[in-house]
Amino acid sequence: MILESRSFDTWDRCPRRLGLEKTHEPRSISPLALLYAGIEGGLLTGRPLDAIRAITAEKDVTCGDLAAMSVVRHTAWMAEVISLALHRKLGQVSRLPDTKFGKHQWRSNLFETAKGLHRIVLISYLDDDALRSFAHGWGTVGELAALGRDLTLTAVVIGASRGGRRHTPWAKALRHPIQKSALRFARRKGGKGSGFTSGWVDCWREATDISASTWLDRMEKDDVVKDLIQSKIIPFRSGDKRIEQAKSDLIQILPRMESASMDDPMNRTACDDVIHGACPWQYYCWSPTEVELSDLNHLYREKPKPSLA
Ligand code: SF4
Repeated sequence: MILESRSFDTWDRCPRRLGLEKTHEPRSISPLALLYAGIEGGLLTGRPLDAIRAITAEKDVTCGDLAAMSVVRHTAWMAEVISLALHRKLGQVSRLPDTKFGKHQWRSNLFETAKGLHRIVLISYLDDDALRSFAHGWGTVGELAALGRDLTLTAVVIGASRGGRRHTPWAKALRHPIQKSALRFARRKGGKGSGFTSGWVDCWREATDISASTWLDRMEKDDVVKDLIQSKIIPFRSGDKRIEQAKSDLIQILPRMESASMDDPMNRTACDDVIHGACPWQYYCWSPTEVELSDLNHLYREKPKPSLA
């Protein structure tokens, strides 16, 4: 059987969701999930926009009352800058091949670079609680237990989402009122021109033709990138009781995950998780009238059966 840390995470948050995802998948994707996918595409292939185009050709983007096109464009343009910044920091990135875990196979959700294993997470703002939550989740502890190697947890701060856009230097700068090519992300220390007058206006990259690399160069010049990408090494220690416990938990939990079903009780605290965002199964679970998944074909579809070839 192939095991992945993200399935254990899903089970931890809500067994009912794991049950639903055994057979079905949402026809839509959240902007946050789309951003993760775009960054992954950017890191692995250098083409984040292609990765986003491939997904949006198949899935709608959940964007409330906003125009889907502008949400997708905003997300894609951010994925371009963030993946480029991560590429400059980490170098060449790849996925790991499956490895043996007891009598199972472990499919890692980490990235591998010349410097080791990396878990990349996106957070609205840097906060000790959020970092601890990622450090203690299966995405970190499960990977340590299964792979037996140190990993680096890298948090990318993507800013608060308001009105469908992330208010962050990855997407927004201030532009000089007269000299339109002058972009700034922060006050520079000392010297002439270190501050802003009220004439400086917000400038969204998706509304300009500024390339990702020029945008990132200017962010680096204003010294804002180091605060937006924070890394912490999580060491693997052989014999650490917490890792031994995690290994045995992984095996003990498996039968319970196998029996998880869409009829399991709802775990309501997981429906609108502040870190992971809204659960996509809310139309089913929170429907005011009784519905079957088959009544919601416009929102969910059956997963394709694995090919026998
Ligand atoms: S909407 Fe809530 S109860 Fe339903 S699957 Fe998602 S987390 Fe679980």
